[in-house]
Amino acid sequence: MPLPVFCRMRCPECNTNFPAEIVKSTGSGGVLESDLCYRAGGLFVYPFMVVVCPGCRFASYHQEFVFLGEYPRYSQYHPIQRALGEFLRAQRRLYPGSERYRLAALSMQRKNADVLQRAHLYLRGSWCARKEGDAAAERYHQERAVRGFREVFRQEAGGAGAAIAAYLVGELCRRLGWFGEAEAAFACVNFSVLPVWLQKGFIEMRERARRGDNTPQMLPGD
Ligand SMILES: [Zn+2]
Repeated sequence: MPLPVFCRMRCPECNTNFPAEIVKSTGSGGVLESDLCYRAGGLFVYPFMVVVCPGCRFASYHQEFVFLGEYPRYSQYHPIQRALGEFLRAQRRLYPGSERYRLAALSMQRKNADVLQRAHLYLRGSWCARKEGDAAAERYHQERAVRGFREVFRQEAGGAGAAIAAYLVGELCRRLGWFGEAEAAFACVNFSVLPVWLQKGFIEMRERARRGDNTPQMLPGD
């Protein structure tokens, strides 16, 4: 099961050193939701994959930051552990997962125009917002992910990447209650290049969009 690592990081933008908690993998043996949110084990890992610099609010996947080393294991009563815990709890309150991904998408926008990566940041932000029970933030992220994956679909021009992008546009529109747009997007999915693991789910979500059903779903297994 993935666990957070407590470490020191350096911001690549402003060189501030600060403590952070990161998770390096999503784990295995989990379940996949119909918007491709993968969950394994007891820990919801996505908030721990993005780091926000407390100095300048530059945000990105933790790999973009300079890793300065893990903290040793202190007792929970040790003053360093207590100060560290307080700092990290405050950071979690200031920057819940959905906010981290929003800031990361904005930071990326300033640097380059990688549409696919930005669409995935908003998609992951929507997963975090759902976990936080923040419906407004979930819509915010889903709407931007739809825009992003529409652009990805246009750029990819065929192939599995385009099929998955069209599926995600359809599924996110379905969840947003935009059933006409969901059906139009699902109609653009090239079934013959869609990965096998997504084929059953695609057929089911397309049918749900047709019926006007916007409920979150799990992807059906084999
Ligand atoms: Zn910074």
